[in-house]
Amino acid sequence: MQTIADPFSTQKQTLDWRQQGLTIGFVPTMGYLHEGHLSLIKAARQKADKVVVSIFVNPTQFGPNEDLDTYPRDEERDTKLLQEAGADLLFMPTPATMYGQDAATWVEVPTLATHLCAASRPTHFRGVCTVVAKLFLLANPHFAFFGEKDWQQLAILRRMTTDLMFPIEIIGCPIVREEDGLAKSSRNVNLTAEERAQAIYIHKALELAEQVAMDGTCDTAEILAAIRDMIEAKVSSGTIDYLEAMDSEKIEPIANIKNRALFAAAVKFSKVRLIDNQIIDLNKKI
Ligand code: AMP
Repeated sequence: MQTIADPFSTQKQTLDWRQQGLTIGFVPTMGYLHEGHLSLIKAARQKADKVVVSIFVNPTQFGPNEDLDTYPRDEERDTKLLQEAGADLLFMPTPATMYGQDAATWVEVPTLATHLCAASRPTHFRGVCTVVAKLFLLANPHFAFFGEKDWQQLAILRRMTTDLMFPIEIIGCPIVREEDGLAKSSRNVNLTAEERAQAIYIHKALELAEQVAMDGTCDTAEILAAIRDMIEAKVSSGTIDYLEAMDSEKIEPIANIKNRALFAAAVKFSKVRLIDNQIIDLNKKI
């Protein structure tokens, strides 16, 4: 595996591969890798000849009082994991090389970035779209892999890829969870023991939402009230940032579940804010 810090050396390598007729799968990450990331790399390995992974804790997607400084990092361990996973190129740039001093260009998808995470992180998706657009131009992938854990991000990046006519297929991959159901996240390491024990109720509440819907309740307000009660009762050391039922593509609130709905939650703990979601598909009812 090559490790390259320089953006244009990465671009040159990926263009060379394309010229040789090789296909490229790309997995952008912020590092501190876990099985969620590794599942994306595995999917990329299966689909493409070359796998490019980026590790970049992108400053522009963090707000002023967010966890940029405490975001966990371990380059040595990540490098080893990526070697074992069969990545071909690790792109690990610095903020200074990704954003020149005079950088003034933003990529935004405002229609999908008003609810959920965008409500409490108003500049987050602008940072995500801008960096992913730049990374696409450096990694030159045929396929790019993103986790469904960040469902809104995936919806926004699909829209961006279509609108900007990137010749890239966006592939969404299922959420990988701990044995007790907590969605794997680099940020989980910043939970206290008590918070970690309570955090499982985020997923349990979303599972309850699915069960209530499958049992015949389509009124989302009713379902949300039930799962809010569960989180408030069980997650005493966290506060709910949002708990919402949305159209899964438009990312807009829905009052009733017709076929499919996205139930999404964000909970703030002392040092971290965790997100999770559940797609409820009434057609899957047995
Ligand atoms: P991050 O390093 O947190 O920015 O995540 C990089 C990519 O990994 C994003 O596409 C995430 O959606 C994805 N990812 C993070 N956690 C998980 C998980 N538990 N399961 C599946 N994908 C994940």
